[in-house]
Amino acid sequence: MPIQLPEDVKSILHILQDAGYEAYAVGGCIRDSLLGRTPDDWDITTSARPEETKALFEKTIDTGIQHGTVTVMRHGRGYEVTTYRVDGEYEDGRHPKEVTFTASLEEDLKRRDFTVNAMAYNEEDGLVDLFGGRQDLERKIIRCVGEANERFEEDALRIMRAVRFSAQLGFTIEERTKEAIRGHADRLRQVSAERIQMELTKLVTSPNPDFLRIAWETGITAVVLPEFDRLMEQPQNNPHHCFSVGEHTLHAMRAVRPDKCLRLAMLLHDVAKPLCLTTDEAGIDHFHGHAQKGERIAAQILKRLRYDNHTTELVSRLVKWHDAAIEPEKKAVRRAASRMGKDLFPLILEVKAADLAAQSDYRRAEKQEWLEQLRGLYEEIEREGDCLTIKDLAVNGRDLMRAGMEPGPQLGRTLQGLLEIVLEDPEKNTKEYLLSLLPKET
Ligand code: ATP
Ligand code: MG
Repeated sequence: MPIQLPEDVKSILHILQDAGYEAYAVGGCIRDSLLGRTPDDWDITTSARPEETKALFEKTIDTGIQHGTVTVMRHGRGYEVTTYRVDGEYEDGRHPKEVTFTASLEEDLKRRDFTVNAMAYNEEDGLVDLFGGRQDLERKIIRCVGEANERFEEDALRIMRAVRFSAQLGFTIEERTKEAIRGHADRLRQVSAERIQMELTKLVTSPNPDFLRIAWETGITAVVLPEFDRLMEQPQNNPHHCFSVGEHTLHAMRAVRPDKCLRLAMLLHDVAKPLCLTTDEAGIDHFHGHAQKGERIAAQILKRLRYDNHTTELVSRLVKWHDAAIEPEKKAVRRAASRMGKDLFPLILEVKAADLAAQSDYRRAEKQEWLEQLRGLYEEIEREGDCLTIKDLAVNGRDLMRAGMEPGPQLGRTLQGLLEIVLEDPEKNTKEYLLSLLPKET
């Protein structure tokens, strides 16, 4: 497959080359092009120093000038142009203390993480593949450039990147690289939560979120998500289940669309099960209260991983309600949607479907039928625009005060009471009727 460089990339490469420098497109864009995928962004590597690059282009941004990176703007898009460099000594396996520029493309490619990420290309020289990256792409293998143990010692984040790329590409991790991951997983303790979070998100939103299993096998989750190891160790002796909690979780992640919050919700939906286990006289396991407890634990985990508030809140709400029992009748669906929040209900249906897909066949048809009914009822409710919140009521606090009620907390309680009545029967959502329910003034 020939690599098709975008016009803007060609022009950036030519401007650098015409000024006497070497320049190549490099890394992820070459990997993705060879795989027949459209790259998200194009990175360029060059022998030109950052100041020299800046002098050649009209519009540039100093993105990471101390690491040799200048962003060149073209038609509203940015292209990262980085000077050939060798990473200096790494401080605690975190950041290189210093980077040294080099005149050699080979040196620059050598410092990159995996063979499939260490290829460069330009139209003059074609593909520069010094470490067998192309063959590894064909064989679907993630392999470190050079000695794996050394590479993970230099930068422990590469441990998570290996699993993340394997999940994104559906590749296997080459055995020596995998062994080195096992030996170095503990070094992830030195990596910041933010960087781990970014890799975890890419892993769980990939086409193979269940490759988290590899992170477990190699000791990565023991460091970054020990709660998941407890799930893998938790059997479920219950007719609804055929997997451990952990295996069920992996299947459930795969069964939901690759949205960040939905995937994280499936990852954490049963996180409290090991803490809620009881076994009845018949030897059946139960996990009463795991959804409520899970809400709190999920929030703690997501905070620890420095997820933003929106994600943390939405995911923990999904965990809280994932197991809600809802009667397949309209007023029950209205009540549930009102309690969870309108935005949540359709997502909860997706969570429930994924949860169900990862359970045993026991009463599957029945459970699916129930979900279908809930979905149908919710659609009707949406279509009819039924009132689900206090804001949608035909009366507001001011109306109540005009009708003689005193301001204060009682006002809110009354509105909530009126909402319950309207959830039962939306026909009753008229100003006249609701006001008629208020105690008469004397
Ligand atoms: P994507 O952007 O699709 O996630 P990518 O391969 O472009 O994948 P980036 O993180 O954008 O990944 O990095 C660009 C390139 O820089 C990589 O292809 C790799 O060559 C190199 N690289 C990035 N991070 C590291 C690292 N921690 N150690 C060594 N090389 C790295
Ligand atoms: Mg990239």
